[in-house]
Amino acid sequence: MRSPIPEYLDEVLRTCAGDRAGAVADYVPELAAADAEQLAVAVSAVDGTVYEAGDSRTSFTIQSISKPFTYALALADRGYEAVLAKIGVEPSGEAFNELSLEEGSARPRNPMINVGALAAHTLAGPPGASRAERFERVVSGISAFAGRRLEIDEAVCRSEMETAHRNLAIAHMLRSYEVIEEDAPHVVEDYVRQCSLLVTTRDLALMAATLANGGVQPVTGEQVVSRDVVRQVLSVMTTCGMYDAAGDWVTTVGIPAKSGVSGGILGVLSGQVGIGVFSPRLDRHGNSVRGVRVCERLSADMGLHMMDAP
Ligand code: GLU
Repeated sequence: MRSPIPEYLDEVLRTCAGDRAGAVADYVPELAAADAEQLAVAVSAVDGTVYEAGDSRTSFTIQSISKPFTYALALADRGYEAVLAKIGVEPSGEAFNELSLEEGSARPRNPMINVGALAAHTLAGPPGASRAERFERVVSGISAFAGRRLEIDEAVCRSEMETAHRNLAIAHMLRSYEVIEEDAPHVVEDYVRQCSLLVTTRDLALMAATLANGGVQPVTGEQVVSRDVVRQVLSVMTTCGMYDAAGDWVTTVGIPAKSGVSGGILGVLSGQVGIGVFSPRLDRHGNSVRGVRVCERLSADMGLHMMDAP
């Protein structure tokens, strides 16, 4: 019998497509050129079966959705203690690009805001790795979650570098507090390249399914990171993954998630499914308007909320 899931996903997209609220991110000129009407959903079971609808094979830059994965690589390569010494795990309630550090410790509050993500980037790979080795670790590591080698959108990367003043300020602040030891502009450039990796909504579902599957990529069978690392990453995604709307999200959708400014959202229900959604118009928090709606529907219809009694 044919699965009813593809028709169901089509129907979900149809009911959310009429919502034209929000605006495409324009602080990176190249992102402003995105087709605002794009809409996609993909759901992957932990065995790697993917159901998808809409523009699920269209590529867009991963942006902040790279952050939990780089954090995972840092934890895998340096260990929990070393990473926690540099980056906290408390929600900030601040904008993603705020110049702020924890009082007292001078650590970034968490790895899902830029200040923490820039620091996490420098902790990927073994201590003493060259800049090129570290960057390759980030690209190949994030690619391993997707199960295929991801490419960089050089145009988006260049465009973001032209307006990267804020991230440069953050990196210089990190350098001055010795959270990072590298040349600040180099760290920003590499972080922006990390954000410019191209993914599809299908990739997001499989990357999420790898987290849902205890770190094992369901198609390639590779153990990308350990179960302990996944638990840490999903915990931080739960409290800090949806910009400063994390509380709204956890009460309505109720799964660990991360969103990015190009309009993607990745959601994980541990042991069950990985979800990817994509639509470029963002709400005032920076989350995809239709993406949130699609996830609310999926959560309600499929009973995904992690706080629901069995
Ligand atoms: N490249 C973006 C930045 O650091 C990522 C932002 C995001 O997706 O939140 O500004």
